[in-house]
This record gives sequence, C-alpha cells and structure tokens, in this order.
Amino acid sequence: MADQQVVIIGSGPAGLTAALYAARGNLKPLLIEGLEAGGQLMLTTMVDNWPGFRDGIMGPDLMAEMRAQAMRFGTEILESDVATVDVRQRPFTLVMGNGRRITTGALVIATGASARWLEIGSDRKLAGHGVSTCATCDGYFFKGRPIAVVGGGDSAMEEAIYLTKFASKVTVVHRRETLRASKIMQDKAFANPKIDFIWESEVADVKDVGKGEVTGIVVRHLKTGQLRELPLDGVFIAIGHTPNTALFTGQIDLDANGYIVTHHGTRTNVPGVFAAGDVQDHVYRQAVTAAGSGCMAAIDAERYLEGLPQGAGETQHTVA
Ligand code: NAP
Repeated sequence: MADQQVVIIGSGPAGLTAALYAARGNLKPLLIEGLEAGGQLMLTTMVDNWPGFRDGIMGPDLMAEMRAQAMRFGTEILESDVATVDVRQRPFTLVMGNGRRITTGALVIATGASARWLEIGSDRKLAGHGVSTCATCDGYFFKGRPIAVVGGGDSAMEEAIYLTKFASKVTVVHRRETLRASKIMQDKAFANPKIDFIWESEVADVKDVGKGEVTGIVVRHLKTGQLRELPLDGVFIAIGHTPNTALFTGQIDLDANGYIVTHHGTRTNVPGVFAAGDVQDHVYRQAVTAAGSGCMAAIDAERYLEGLPQGAGETQHTVA
C-alpha cells in the first residue's frame, strides 16, 4: 500500500493545476514544490496573457493564488526537492533531499523546463527588469523601444520577429557568422527591416547604470575581442531551454532533446506516470497551456487509479 495516491512533482502552473484537480477529485495529492517554487512565472513581472485578469497580474502573485487555491481543497505541499525517483516498481518510490521516502500509486511530473541564461551575472540580476527569456510574456512592455535578442536558433528568430511588433528596433546578437535557425525563419528575419544582426559576438555584460533597469549591453566580438556598448532598453535571451528531466533518465521515454514523450494526453510510457507542462512541451510553453495539461494529468491519474480504461496506445513499461 502506497503512502500517497498521487504525488505531483513541480509547483508551476502545471503542477498546481494538477494538484487543484486531484484535490477536488478527493485524491489528497502531495505536491513536492522543488527548489524553484512557483516555476518560471516567479521570474516574470506582469502577466497580461492569463485569462481573467483584464489588468494583468504579477507572476509571483498569480503563483501564490494558485498555491493557495490548491491548498484550499486539501493539497499537501512539501517544500522540498526530490533526490531520486524509482518508477520501475509499484508503488513508485521518491526519496526527498532530506532522505524522507514516499511511495505513491500515481505520479504527475510537472518539473518544467528552465530557460538557459548567459551566465554572466548581470543577465540574471536584471531578470524582470529589462532582461527576459519570454517574448510572448514581456514583449508588450517594449513598445517603441530598442531591444536585443540573443541567439541564432528558431526561438531567437521567432522572438525577434514577434518583438518587431512592439520594439522600435531589434538587434540580434549571435555568436557565429551564420544562424542555426531554419531557412524559412532566417528569410523572414533577414527581410524584416526592424531587425539587424551583430555576428560572431557575445553579450559580455548587461548594463543598468545603477537604475535597476536595463540601459544597454556590452558586446564582445569573439574574433577580435573588441568591446562595444549598445544603448537599449531590453534583452531577450533565446538560447534554448533545458527540460528538467534528469531524475527520470533511463526510466521514462525522453525525446532527443530530453523532453518527456507523452501519448494520448499526458500519459508517459510508464502506466501511472503522467507528465504536464513544459517538461513535455517545447512548442507552446505558455502558463495557460501548462495549466491545461496539468488539469489533464490529474484527470488521467484519477482514471488510472480507478482502473478505468486508459484507451488505445498505452505502451508497457520499458527502460531505455
Ligand atoms: P537551439 O536550436 O538549440 O538554438 C540555440 C541558439 O542559441 C543557437 O544559435 C546557439 O548558438 C545559441 N546559444 C546557445 N548557448 C548560447 C550561449 N551560452 N551564448 C550565446 N548563444 C548561445 O534552441 P531553440 O532556438 O530554442 O530551438 C529548440 C528547438 O525548438 C529546435 O529544434 C527548434 O527548431 C525548435 N523550434 C522551432 C520553432 C519553429 O519552428 N517555429 C520555434 C522555436 C523552436 P550556436 O548556433 O552557435 O549553437
């Protein structure tokens, strides 16, 4: 007999929505919050694309509301991190960072994905104050202002093109002399008169001149080492995301980029293990889509625990 019926790992919109639905389904879920409680929205300021808040809501406030709502229906929240997970045997076993062992009949993985940062210090320090990793979330704040996008892949081109709807000028800073992005995205970016490029260069520093808001970047040419300062108001870092799936490697099917593979909703290849949010979605990556898949995962878990048919396409547990 397991300690828990459902354990949810992760406390972003996917995890907390799964908890809300599982709690309302009387499954008394345990949600393990993780070290980055609240997920990526904790790094955002105003969220204007969460339905229901016509004037927007601050990211941390939205997460606090979701957490309180999940608790209101009986979700137990553990402010802890998971050290190991074993889904090879039932019930599934989780060991916390402090050594506590928990067993569960069903598991929802909502550990998210982490945007990659430049790791130059000033980029993280000014996150939410002109530095962003999400154009859809924050582009609107840069109406009529000059900004930079860092990266040369599809995400960077997509964000640069999207941001031209708001910004007066978008400067793409890329470390090589050619883009990694697909030809069609490159063509679109090159054809956009608001986008220009700084090649073979990296962002060495993000400046705020004591204002607490971005005032410019320092760009280093990688071949000559020459530094130059570019005055601008925003920096969008689009150098990829890393799904937080290290705990599950070798136990759950992951795609080539490390994202959990889901079938028919939120089911993984291991019956009883479900995945929701950015850990299984590198396409939409929105808070509202993550929350939607969290709802689906809770319903899928409830049906699994009730022994209801899971439908066609379920595969048996395999270890990669
Ligand atoms: P990506 O393809 O891995 O590209 C990351 C880019 O960031 C590369 O240009 C890379 O430079 C650069 N980069 C990585 N680390 C860096 C660092 N520390 N400093 C400076 N630059 C750095 O990631 P992505 O663009 O997020 O795309 C991920 C996947 O999603 C891809 O398969 C992509 O095709 C797909 N995607 C598709 C679409 C679409 O079709 N609409 C949109 C978005 C994403 P290098 O080129 O030098 O490695």
